[in-house]
Amino acid sequence: MSLTQHNGRVVAARQETEARNETFYPGPSRIQLAAFPPKERWDDWVELDARAWPRRVEHHYLLVPTTCFNCESACGLLAYVDKETGLIRKFEGNPEHPGSRGRNCAKGPATLNQVTDPDRILYPLKRAGKRGEGRWVRVSWEEALTDIAGRIRNALQEGRNNEVMYHVGRPGEDGYTERVLAAWGVDGHNSHTNICSSSGRAGYHYWMGLDRPSPDHANAEVILLISAHLESGHYFNPHAQRIIEGKGHGAKVIVFDVRLSNSATHADYWVAPYPGSEAAILLAIANYLIQQHLYNRDFVRRWWNWQEYLRAEHPEVAPTFENFEAVLQHLYTDYTFAFAAQESGVDAQMIADIAKVVAKAGTRLSAHTWRSAAAGNLGGWQVSRTLFLLNALLGAVASEGGTYPNAWNKFVPRPLHTPPHPQVWNTLSWPIEYPLAMNEMSFLLPHELKEGRGKLAVYFTRVYNPVWTNPDGCTWIEVLSDEQLIGLHVALTPTWSETAYFADYVLPMGVGSERHDLHSYETHDAQWLGFRQPVLRAARERSGHSIADTRDVNPGAVWEENEFWIELSWYIDPDGSLGIRQFFESPQHPGEKLTVDEYYGYIFANSVPGLPARAAAEGLTPLAYMRRYGSFEVQKNIGPLHEHEVPQAECEDMRTDAIGRVFTRTPKPQTANLVPLPTPDGDADGRRLVGVQVEGKIRRGFPTPSGRLEFYSKTLKDWGWPEYALPTYIKSHIHPERLEKDQMVLIPTFRLPVQIHTRSANAKWLDEIAHTNPLWINSKDAARLSVHTGDLVRVETEIGYFVVKAWVTEGIRPGVVGCSHHMGRWKLSNDGQRQLMATVGLDRQGHRWVMNRTKGVEAFPSADADSQRIWWTDAGVHQNLTFPVHPDPISGMHCWHQAVRVTRARAEDRYGDIHVDTEKSHAAYKKWRECTRPADRFSPDGTRRPYWLLRPLKPAREVYRLPAVNEREST
Ligand code: SF4
Repeated sequence: MSLTQHNGRVVAARQETEARNETFYPGPSRIQLAAFPPKERWDDWVELDARAWPRRVEHHYLLVPTTCFNCESACGLLAYVDKETGLIRKFEGNPEHPGSRGRNCAKGPATLNQVTDPDRILYPLKRAGKRGEGRWVRVSWEEALTDIAGRIRNALQEGRNNEVMYHVGRPGEDGYTERVLAAWGVDGHNSHTNICSSSGRAGYHYWMGLDRPSPDHANAEVILLISAHLESGHYFNPHAQRIIEGKGHGAKVIVFDVRLSNSATHADYWVAPYPGSEAAILLAIANYLIQQHLYNRDFVRRWWNWQEYLRAEHPEVAPTFENFEAVLQHLYTDYTFAFAAQESGVDAQMIADIAKVVAKAGTRLSAHTWRSAAAGNLGGWQVSRTLFLLNALLGAVASEGGTYPNAWNKFVPRPLHTPPHPQVWNTLSWPIEYPLAMNEMSFLLPHELKEGRGKLAVYFTRVYNPVWTNPDGCTWIEVLSDEQLIGLHVALTPTWSETAYFADYVLPMGVGSERHDLHSYETHDAQWLGFRQPVLRAARERSGHSIADTRDVNPGAVWEENEFWIELSWYIDPDGSLGIRQFFESPQHPGEKLTVDEYYGYIFANSVPGLPARAAAEGLTPLAYMRRYGSFEVQKNIGPLHEHEVPQAECEDMRTDAIGRVFTRTPKPQTANLVPLPTPDGDADGRRLVGVQVEGKIRRGFPTPSGRLEFYSKTLKDWGWPEYALPTYIKSHIHPERLEKDQMVLIPTFRLPVQIHTRSANAKWLDEIAHTNPLWINSKDAARLSVHTGDLVRVETEIGYFVVKAWVTEGIRPGVVGCSHHMGRWKLSNDGQRQLMATVGLDRQGHRWVMNRTKGVEAFPSADADSQRIWWTDAGVHQNLTFPVHPDPISGMHCWHQAVRVTRARAEDRYGDIHVDTEKSHAAYKKWRECTRPADRFSPDGTRRPYWLLRPLKPAREVYRLPAVNEREST
């Protein structure tokens, strides 16, 4: 056939197809849908009803963006709101979101289950009997607000500001509630961070002055992950998609994980080190880079605080870079591959191979650790510190394919009406023994209350379930049940939890698609802002309705927290005499209540560079733009902000000190600024730190006390820990030297990709996939114990034991057992999440507690026919109840790993049995506290804590001073 004949046939075939399509159905979307509905079609998107097939029944949808609230990543979602029913049909990814780019993990679409959950709490409830008795009466919002506000007002008027506490699990937003608490004048912010990521943060913070890494996985040559970041790490889906992208470009993936996780199966190099030995391996790699002169000399010379180190620790030598290099050559010589192999149980040749791979990465090493090893071990903060040492040696810091400081890749806009810093210091959250704790010592709260260190008049728990999530839950129950210690417990929650059960008020809050929040996370080298919004409210407003209050569109009397906080603040200070109301007043109409539209409208119009212009180009206000698209990319390809030159205009009356820090009298700019400014102390004459001298130029540097990357931490030395002033290896509390002969290590922290702590039990699709947590045990250990898969085993900790089923596998190293922490949900009555909570009996004899399972999960009738189709009965075992607190004396992190005895279950043992002795757990608390170096003995300057360290809600500088110092000065 000639070319002409061929072309003729192609044209004819095309014409025939087109002609046929005229008579054929053109598809509901009327366009060739490649991937996502284009944003121009979001007002009227058409899809067929799958159930009606083969009839073509079209449904018209409004597509409304919001963000997922099922983990910290805040991926973009698009809600498909049926225009006919006004209900949400489904959630899919928002292609306009720069972090998630239209993709989600399984938990994103399952937001729909949370909206329609038959067990969700729909009305405010007040306790009717004793706490924990399970009797409730429905009350109005007004009644609840009046009672709660009255108690807070009394506390504030009587100077009991520290008796008001807000304890948050997943914040899901940047700064809204801190602003509320500051307006009330309380140091009442408490978080879950010290049971989550404090140690991971501490290692990064001492290096960069910022507590999170932002790895640029997509452009890396080598991706080094401590633990299962591909399937369940920090920023799950946004990072996972970029890891796979990097792998697609040829990056080598190295995974350290004691389990054969899904991440390990995708690695080029997988090692399963003995838990807690990770820093020893990382230092052996660092030593290799140093000994082989494979580090980036130029970067180290320009950005490490080696001058400060030499001046402080080696005054005998001139502070030259060559002298520093000579010292560096000797610092880590003990960390040979053989030593690392001995500590970790990983073959020395494998470690050497990995070191060579890392060395080849150059400035393209993206590395990440967050919870896992850092969260499991005493001294775990050295895991992130030694991991970042590799980045710092290679100059893979804020480089393409390297690891950025998080603030370079995050944008937090300035809010409306900023209240002053509170004038109080809450020693319950920030006790004197832990001056360097990265976050509040939240998990010690019940022990401190028991010891009489304070009490609470009003205690809010919000998206937080300490009875279940924290270690030592029985001690939490003891304290939550005691009205002398906690006057009023208010649980702000969409669902029942083990903690809500011990509340006075259970107040129904919106799930992820029923609330406003602003957030920005370091998912890649860009700065973006995400906007979570109540989708039914936004849909109604887009359709021309006016909505004053989110309760008008939510099910039952479910509210959103932001409106609740505004209303509660007005109830606390109705006439403005306490000075609180002013922060919750309309900027346009002083004396009237602030609305969420005004709050976010102000931020979008005034604090987000580029957004007003972009919105105007589409004929929208900045608020309308964010309601329509749900996110805004402020800037991409940020690059190395620390290299930015400080403008002359900021250098009035400048002074440079001996280590190159530049101080100025120019005030800090108040406008939105893409470059995070240094926050550490100024000089003695009141100048502020503005940057550092690097080769004759003043550069922005890092927000550390030295303005550089701190290989050497003067802070750690000054506050009583000179032995840890440099990155090093600390032997864990579960190091083999510390275990008794018959003990093993329990890893109780690993996540399952489709569940998230206690927040996803209200998602039926996820519960069907994952609803139990057997004990992973290596076949060698199983053989030694004569245990087979499915057999019951007893796992004995320091304060009790739990009984669980064994899962015999080669996927965990011998000598270590693992149990996922998502499972083991329980309820004492019918108030609970019936699809993932077993019913239990809970008995207390003094300090001895016993929990027995009385009934597993079963099908139940509800408005959702699927609840009758529940086929699983198991809900796992609540292991955390049997763990004592293990606070790291420096980072404050609860060190999760446990030294345990695993034996075959005894005749009397039943699945799910829990035995706990809270007297033993209190003794463990005291034992660990003895390892601290408290501020009143070790503070170098009479303060409670280094001012430069991050703190979610920073009180006024004056209250950093220790009381004894204040007293001395006043006499
Ligand atoms: S990773 Fe999954 S759970 Fe987390 S925000 Fe994204 S979609 Fe939601």
